[in-house]
Amino acid sequence: MSDLQQRVFDYLAAHQQSALDRLFAYLRMPSISAHGTGMQQVADFLVAELQRMGMQAQLIASAGWPFVYARRDDQPGAPTVLLYGHYDVQPADPLELWQSPPFEPTIRDGKIYARGAGDNKGQHFAQLLALEALLAVNGSLPCNVIVLLEGEEEVGSPHIAEFVAQHRELLNADLVVTADGPQHESGRPALMFGVRGVASFELRARGASRDLHSGNFGGVAPNPIWTLVHLLATMRSPDGRITIDGFNEPVLPPTPAVAAALAALPLDLEAQLAAIGLTPQTLDAPADRDYYARLSSYPTFTINGLHGGYGGPGSKTVLPAEAVVKCDMRLVPDQTVEQVLAAVEAHVQRHAPQVEFIPLGGMDPSQTPLESRFTEPLRAALAAGQRREPLLVPAMGGSLPEYIWTKVLGVPAFVTPYANHDEANHAPNENIEVELFLAGIRSGVAMMIELGRLRAAG
Ligand SMILES: [Zn+2]
Repeated sequence: MSDLQQRVFDYLAAHQQSALDRLFAYLRMPSISAHGTGMQQVADFLVAELQRMGMQAQLIASAGWPFVYARRDDQPGAPTVLLYGHYDVQPADPLELWQSPPFEPTIRDGKIYARGAGDNKGQHFAQLLALEALLAVNGSLPCNVIVLLEGEEEVGSPHIAEFVAQHRELLNADLVVTADGPQHESGRPALMFGVRGVASFELRARGASRDLHSGNFGGVAPNPIWTLVHLLATMRSPDGRITIDGFNEPVLPPTPAVAAALAALPLDLEAQLAAIGLTPQTLDAPADRDYYARLSSYPTFTINGLHGGYGGPGSKTVLPAEAVVKCDMRLVPDQTVEQVLAAVEAHVQRHAPQVEFIPLGGMDPSQTPLESRFTEPLRAALAAGQRREPLLVPAMGGSLPEYIWTKVLGVPAFVTPYANHDEANHAPNENIEVELFLAGIRSGVAMMIELGRLRAAG
């Protein structure tokens, strides 16, 4: 461990209570983007905090809530890291299920309970306290740092792509690091390199102008549910292959590095499946895919719901007039939302032109190469800060707007969760373990120091 790192870790160990007090002050301020509650006050609070820490900080207006922007360029020639987070939180209801009030942070059994404790205030505030500790001990930061905190993540980040495209010159970073999400259930920290994308759509089939008697009109009027069932059957085969022309073309097999990283992730398959009432024999097709590859290396086609006709008790001999199916697809590199939705639309046009295709948008996938020059410094930093070796996770199964960084900004992007796996984000009794919050601050410190060492390598 470097001398500077040791000195800053000692400083942190001596200032734990004040770190907690500062976080608590932040958590007491509601900032619910869905309702517009407290947003401007919290944005102003963050700018004042960042300025007090010694960062050049300001609010930058957007078409929605302002972005908190701060930077410090202490090390010409060293990498510039952009630390992303979001200062908005989910609504707190249902309030009656909270054991302590959501905006009165409370420690129970080593966990801080409050709305935003894990998602995302506790995590990005740990990064900010890391900057503060480095500045307090050393007077400068070991690498260049940009802080960008968004106020609309919990409502789907409607303005961030436009914001990033418009302010490229302010966001001239070499990499982006996001501390968000829960750690692996094994308790190991993780460094994540990508996310699957998502594309959603709806298919609508119509028959007669109204619901009909299945005896008086059966055999005369077409059934829109059958129309959708037949169409869907042309889109995915029973052995699990997606059979939409053009859908699979950009999908590449996992690289050797990705395959090796996936194989190294800890897994108790039986227990994992038992928790959701499945066994290895009842896995989705195709059968020959490993667990983590299923979640990160392959696209999916999910029928979210198929609706039409009668579903109540007993029978009703109705011939429905309309049927709707809602679907989503999880995408992998190098698919795009645009390409996938165009392939689906062309497929529908070819197989059932009377069916209406309604695209519902999505989010592109993102993949940072595991061979990135930033992988080793970030791995080493997490190992030092968390005091456990991090898992290297090629891609998460879910979707985050990481493409903003890798595709719009064009730089490698990493996600590292600082919260416990049971943080209850978006739910009542959201929490972060005190120890993991403190480990997050140490991780941030080590990250800046390790990235600063890349100077010589350019
Ligand atoms: Zn969230």
